[in-house]
Amino acid sequence: MKKRILVTGGAGFIGSHLCQRLLNEGNEVICLDNYFTGSKSNIVHLLDNPYFELIRHDVTHPYFVEVDEIYNLACPASPVHYQYNSIKTIKTSVMGAINMLGLAKRTKAKILQASTSEVYGDPLVHPQPESYWGHVNPIGIRSCYDEGKRCAESLFVNYHEQNAVDTKIIRIFNTYGPNMNPEDGRVVSNFIVQALKGQDITIFGDGKQTRSFQYVDDLVEGMMRMMNSRADFHGPVNIGNPNEFSMLELAQLVIELTNSKSKIVYLPLPQDDPMQRQPDITLAKKELDNWSPQVQLREGLTKTIVYFDKLLNV
Ligand code: NAD
Ligand code: UDP
Repeated sequence: MKKRILVTGGAGFIGSHLCQRLLNEGNEVICLDNYFTGSKSNIVHLLDNPYFELIRHDVTHPYFVEVDEIYNLACPASPVHYQYNSIKTIKTSVMGAINMLGLAKRTKAKILQASTSEVYGDPLVHPQPESYWGHVNPIGIRSCYDEGKRCAESLFVNYHEQNAVDTKIIRIFNTYGPNMNPEDGRVVSNFIVQALKGQDITIFGDGKQTRSFQYVDDLVEGMMRMMNSRADFHGPVNIGNPNEFSMLELAQLVIELTNSKSKIVYLPLPQDDPMQRQPDITLAKKELDNWSPQVQLREGLTKTIVYFDKLLNV
């Protein structure tokens, strides 16, 4: 049955892939975005589809529409962008969640929150299971994002308990792929763009800090499985690729895959930068029909490099 689905942040990196997949599966999609970090160019190819609607709107203001499902992705995700206007980032997470949960309550729509591994902060437990409460600095430079997302999770749980809203929460670990904003300062896009331009590759700190990188297609699959998971499962559930790499290993792999002559340079590590991060995906496998990431880093980076190469040569 064709569902009408609202995707907030739909013109962003992940949102644009999700809109495409939802349309491919025969749904009607309403993409809502204020274009802070997203771009029309990510979804311009969908505009001819009569089942795709594009709305310029800010989630900090209520929005009224009749829908069956809501994917709430609106929020800048890269440290550079979420720290640009930290108060706005908190408003987007918290007021955005309240507005979208209110909409879900009124329309009885099912609603999924794109939460983040940042709720674990700089984790003292490794890898991170959903039962870990995290190690977050509530007043640090990442707190506008981390605490905003933590508050949104609390709102989701409480709207479910108090108002019987059908909620789902996923905690997304570092995700990369085509449609990332080349300017957004995240490590994968930075390293690829620097390597393709022959510029220095900027490692922050000593490069020993780790992240576990997930290709966007695996995330979208996990997200949709979560939306369609059994009625009494609400999460939170980790969605990420457990293969963990240091930033130095990532830099070396990007240099190899781009055949670049770029040199690695070391810059100061930003405050509160997590030292390690790896998802425990036992719960996702159990609840989401044996979901697990299919695309490993070398393959995913190769596809992403093709995207940035085209973008830089337009
Ligand atoms: P992105 O910046 O590309 O996309 C976010 C989108 O939200 C953009 O299109 C932006 O314009 C829009 N937006 C921002 N503020 C808004 C507002 N007030 N009203 C309406 N739209 C607004 O980032 P992304 O990587 O696609 O992330 C999407 C979601 O996934 C975010 O909620 C992010 O926190 C979450 N997430 C992403 C990652 C990752 O590694 N990419 C990891 C964890 C969580
Ligand atoms: N990083 C880096 N060089 C860059 C950008 C980021 O070494 O040009 C590091 C950053 O300090 C962090 C890791 O890469 O340790 C991942 O950063 P990103 O901003 O992509 O994601 P997050 O820190 O939110 O996981």
